[in-house]
Amino acid sequence: MVLACGCHDPAMPSNQSGVNTRVLAIPTGVANAFAIPAADGLTLVDTGAPGGRGRLQGALRRRGFALSDVRRVFVTHAHVDHVGSLAALLDTCDPLVIAHALDAPFVRAGTNPPFAEPTALGVLDRLMARLSSSAAPPARVDREVEDDEPLEEVAPGARAVHLPGHTPGQVGLWLPDRRFLIAGDAAHNLLPWRLSLPFAAFTTDMAQALASVERAASLAPLGLGLGHGPPLRSGATTKLRQLLHRHGRIATASP
Ligand SMILES: [Zn+2]
Ligand SMILES: [Zn+2]
Repeated sequence: MVLACGCHDPAMPSNQSGVNTRVLAIPTGVANAFAIPAADGLTLVDTGAPGGRGRLQGALRRRGFALSDVRRVFVTHAHVDHVGSLAALLDTCDPLVIAHALDAPFVRAGTNPPFAEPTALGVLDRLMARLSSSAAPPARVDREVEDDEPLEEVAPGARAVHLPGHTPGQVGLWLPDRRFLIAGDAAHNLLPWRLSLPFAAFTTDMAQALASVERAASLAPLGLGLGHGPPLRSGATTKLRQLLHRHGRIATASP
């Protein structure tokens, strides 16, 4: 196990114990996963779609880690593109699996949280929902967390942040020591110039999803890791506020 990883890159920030404090983005092909090094190994946030274990392993290896370094898996929500490789991963290593109490039953059952009512969707969204409604293989969850629950073992001051709406139990991971929020599909970063709300077809409650963007912005993050699109390493609060402003939630995008 290589704890003070960063592939020996002197440019990588590290804390006093030599642990890399950069949140590592792990592309899995569909949705991003993230890895957070700690003294005892890694916290992996999400796992990618089914069949992604090899890709995950390769991405970790390039950063100097092995699957056996994964001590914890933090599940942002129960959609197949985020939790699809969890069961396969658990065949290889034995991490503690953490999920919000409201999405944990869907992870265990291998079912999807409720999608939007088709009658509330436009034609394109309805088509999208019909084409991709597969669920992840069932997998165990060891620890159910609630909003604001401390996760000190992940990083100093780390907390769970309930971000419901996309799914009932979507949960973000707030890392105050680096002001970085990992927020699942609370928003998408698929366009270079702005964030967007999650796809309506796969979102349980869009009004609640918008309120969760407010919650994310209220943390004033510098960096933001989303499931879709590249991570933001700076300027995250501005982009979240611009999204809220476009949807009429705040009068001005500036803080
Ligand atoms: Zn999702
Ligand atoms: Zn997703």
